[in-house]
Amino acid sequence: MATLGNPQETIAVLKKYNFNFQKKFGQNFLIDTHVLDKIVAAAGITKEDMVLEIGPGIGTLTQYLCESAREVVAVEIDRNLIPVLSDTLSAYDNVTVLNEDVLKVDLDALVREKNAGKPIKVVANLPYYITTPIIMKLLEENIPVSSITVMIQKEVAERMQAEPGGKEYGALSLAVQFYADTYIAANVPPNCFMPRPNVGSAVIRLTKHEKCPVKVQDTSYMFKVIRASFAQRRKTLVNGLCNSSEISVDKEAVLNALEKMGLKADVRGEKLSLVEFAKLSDLLCG
Ligand code: SAM
Repeated sequence: MATLGNPQETIAVLKKYNFNFQKKFGQNFLIDTHVLDKIVAAAGITKEDMVLEIGPGIGTLTQYLCESAREVVAVEIDRNLIPVLSDTLSAYDNVTVLNEDVLKVDLDALVREKNAGKPIKVVANLPYYITTPIIMKLLEENIPVSSITVMIQKEVAERMQAEPGGKEYGALSLAVQFYADTYIAANVPPNCFMPRPNVGSAVIRLTKHEKCPVKVQDTSYMFKVIRASFAQRRKTLVNGLCNSSEISVDKEAVLNALEKMGLKADVRGEKLSLVEFAKLSDLLCG
């Protein structure tokens, strides 16, 4: 049975180990059992699954994961938390804690070793200061992952899920949606954490596409086009592309491509869907 997930137990563990929160590691620990149940339910974990948890903290979510998964690997950067985790996870024999920076771990090798290379599930209450690098590492490096269910800043979750036309829509929406379907499972207020973060949070599940939803000749070129199109939001797409330091295109070529696609010369990046960016990229690099 999980013992953590409420303020009293969390305070008792913190006191026992004389633990001081480190702001630089984005430490906001969960203290609400309903939220913990919601994360586990949204991730759809079964006894077949191997789960990678990023940033176990004092082991609150880890206990819930150990109860429902076959095996859990938890990667924690803060060495002060390692003795705490040995204590709070002592009842479980299906967990391994690694004292590492997740951005430096060879996750592909880890999945090969622990799950015979078959897709794993990632579940975490992420440190907000590195949300995007962690998610993009998992998606872009083609690590065998079937889904990523994570607590992140609400505003970032909304940007990941945004559709063309709105002000939240941008390069991050396209980068995430190229690899995965997005689903916001819950909004979570600051009082569910200790200490309270000064932003709202949300649980988002990213389910990796089995087959990519768009065909594009050169993915890396398409993402350069996307970044350039959103670099100066108040400019037209033509100006954004022509002023970019990442790609070199002339105005004539961009105007021609837009005309072929039936788009206006003064269209802005936020109007284009992923399929349209793929087409534009193919026309420009072809
Ligand atoms: N999972 C715990 C919970 O829900 O109560 C703690 C979540 S807290 C928001 C984020 C955790 O990630 C902290 O324990 C922090 O030390 C850890 N962390 C921060 N940067 C990390 C990194 N680069 N690699 C691994 N863990 C990291």
